[in-house]
Amino acid sequence: MPIHEKQLIRPENLVTHDELVIDGVDVSGHWSTFIESRVVTDYNEDMETEIAALPGGEHIHRCWQCGSCTNACTVNALNERFNPRFWIYLIRTGMEEELLRDKDIIWQCVSCNKCTYACPRDVNPEGVMKATSHWLELKGHTEKSPSMHFDEEFAAQVFKTGKIEEGRIIRGFFKRTNQALMQDWLVEMVKRLVRHLPVKLLFMMGMANLARPKTRGWGGAEAAVNEYVAEREASNRKALGLDKEPTT
Ligand code: SF4
Ligand code: SF4
Repeated sequence: MPIHEKQLIRPENLVTHDELVIDGVDVSGHWSTFIESRVVTDYNEDMETEIAALPGGEHIHRCWQCGSCTNACTVNALNERFNPRFWIYLIRTGMEEELLRDKDIIWQCVSCNKCTYACPRDVNPEGVMKATSHWLELKGHTEKSPSMHFDEEFAAQVFKTGKIEEGRIIRGFFKRTNQALMQDWLVEMVKRLVRHLPVKLLFMMGMANLARPKTRGWGGAEAAVNEYVAEREASNRKALGLDKEPTT
């Protein structure tokens, strides 16, 4: 049985009669508020299977709708429309049109994993949010999200060198998302680093930025990682039916 939180009812689906008397009882105004009935005919029966096929979405079928994930969620505390429990319900029931109404905020999951620790069914809601965001992008419902750009920049650097260098990741991310490098918060962060970190560490960070060292023996691992990633991407596309020949 799904939970119906009041804020999930769309205002346009609420009907109120200014003057209404039923069996002699005046129920005018908010006493006669009803939820408009509706018929949903466009279920996407493949949606759960497709999202479950993407990394992170594997255990979505375990959800029993307790709401612990939404209750613990960092982003929900700031925006009640960000509701992992509700989205999992929509995905499992195939309500694609309803899910698409929130397509521009699903990517805002900050991967804090509070939901993952709160979930009694080991659903990995954080992974489901990532898989859903990925699904929206692969299906062409959304542009590549800033979060996806960041993940790709991060992953590309790890695949290439076997390690990360934060400065390069931030520069690469800003470049991909057309953002100026000189941002107030970043300038402030750099100032504090310079003020508080030992000179030797700052020097090593600067050198790593310029020299781009690799983890020792990374050459062999790099090829294997790239092969695995290519296989995984092909498998994701196949699961979503994106590699099928168009039918004429
Ligand atoms: S990982 Fe995402 S969905 Fe889970 S609590 Fe954090 S912000 Fe919310
Ligand atoms: S906490 Fe787990 S079981 Fe409960 S609603 Fe969220 S995903 Fe489902």
